[in-house]
Amino acid sequence: MADALAPCARIGILGGGQLGRMLALSAARLGLDVVIFDPEPGCPASRVAVETITAAYDDLDAVAKFAASVDAVTYEFENVPAATAAAAAEHAPLRPGALALDVAQDRLTEKTFLNEHDAPTVAFRAVDTLEDLHTAISELGLPAILKTRRFGYDGKGQAVVREMSDAEDAFVAMNGQPAILEAFADFTMELSIIAARGLDGEVAAYPLSENRHSGGILRESFAPAEISEELSNRAFAMAASVLKALDYVGVMGMELFALKDGTLLVNEIAPRVHNTGHWTQDACTVCQFEQHIRAVAGWPLGDTTPHSSAQMINLIGHDADGWKHWLKTPNALLHLYGKRETRDGRKMGHVNVLGPLK
Ligand code: AMP
Repeated sequence: MADALAPCARIGILGGGQLGRMLALSAARLGLDVVIFDPEPGCPASRVAVETITAAYDDLDAVAKFAASVDAVTYEFENVPAATAAAAAEHAPLRPGALALDVAQDRLTEKTFLNEHDAPTVAFRAVDTLEDLHTAISELGLPAILKTRRFGYDGKGQAVVREMSDAEDAFVAMNGQPAILEAFADFTMELSIIAARGLDGEVAAYPLSENRHSGGILRESFAPAEISEELSNRAFAMAASVLKALDYVGVMGMELFALKDGTLLVNEIAPRVHNTGHWTQDACTVCQFEQHIRAVAGWPLGDTTPHSSAQMINLIGHDADGWKHWLKTPNALLHLYGKRETRDGRKMGHVNVLGPLK
């Protein structure tokens, strides 16, 4: 295959958290070497990589040196600064590319792009002023959710507007940052699809998972989700359309809302491996991490068929103190991220509990 890396090639990963670590572990099994770039010394991925560059993301000389030392560059988080991505792309192929970052970093750009590419979302309006917010509320109705356009994750930078009188407090909570008002999705289920696109344009996806959040953080995923084939085909078509439009190479997570009337809406996309795809590590032939590495290396995509069902449970903060319990639980596989400091709300590990396929 054209542009395919050879075994023993070097893949650079911007970001050295748990996703980088699990990517590096999959790469190692395939005989590929990973170089991590992360500002934090001793970050989780650095301890399973062949080399780590510890520098700030805006140290563009360090980024250039890093990219020049590898055969392809990828990333494990969506907020890679545009200048960092550009500096890396000058020296090595950046997969997925800068367009995916650009689209995923701004909720307004993202929702506009998704709707233009057959992936419908809730109705939304840009909000820069309190007056914009009042107009948006009268157009979209209530309840609605005000979110910062950029740098929101795990429910941060969001305020629910239930009544017109909540508008001012919600606006103040945005801290002067550009925002977007989203109509409230009255969903019956939150789902996600983990899909990949190879360098040759082939698309493959895993069965959807059903996801449960609390406090804005993913707690559990159940896969395969118990949904109709028609719904899952629709999700696949939406993911495939977006991957193609982004000329994407790698794994993408697409979060979805399923409404009572059968409507399927996209909440957001993540241009990277995704927490709701961790179940694939133990329940599928080829997991999302290997799939991403294959795509970035220009190798053929792998088999996404599950051999088991799985419940993925995130170990958040002190949940991870119970790690011994999981070691004794039948059909459970424990994954710990090697984070030395436990903090409330910090993702410390996860468990995949396997069961028979239905
Ligand atoms: P986000 O940070 O956009 O991924 O949102 C985090 C969680 O908030 C989602 O997983 C949903 O549970 C909820 N949420 C976000 N946007 C909406 C919406 N427009 N309508 C209803 N719930 C939402």
